[in-house]
Amino acid sequence: MSDCLFCKIIRGELPSFTVYEDERTIAFLDIHPVNAGHTLVAPKKHSHNIFDIAPEDWAAVSETVRLLAIAIEKGMEADGVNIAMNNREHAGQVVPHPHVHIIPRFKGDGLKLMPQRSYEASEAEESQRKIVGALR
Ligand code: 5GP
Ligand code: ZN
Repeated sequence: MSDCLFCKIIRGELPSFTVYEDERTIAFLDIHPVNAGHTLVAPKKHSHNIFDIAPEDWAAVSETVRLLAIAIEKGMEADGVNIAMNNREHAGQVVPHPHVHIIPRFKGDGLKLMPQRSYEASEAEESQRKIVGALR
């Protein structure tokens, strides 16, 4: 798409620190990293998020994420990685082109990415019913 930020990076119209690309995918450094080496993996073909990406592009992105997770941990001498994807505005998505974040993690870096809570009474059963129902 002509005015999409990541499509412009993919076409080389905007600069990026690209670390990998193949026929379907690209991986480049996030301009505002959580930790150095924070990388975004995106399909070259424009769509918006997990809800409309073509299955074959998602499969390609997944494999690139696997390859890059290994390279980022090794290359950055990290102690692990977080893999995350924001989908739609209220889930924190700012750039409307699908992209998976790979964030190198270091012992003692102190980041807490996912605050958690306990289920209320019957909430887990209801959630299970709703999700299984939506799969039908
Ligand atoms: P989102 O919140 O949509 O999941 O993440 C978008 C990410 O894109 C953010 O982490 C942000 O730092 C990154 N970003 C935004 N603009 C640019 C840019 O022009 N170049 C690069 N490399 N990353 C960008
Ligand atoms: Zn795009």
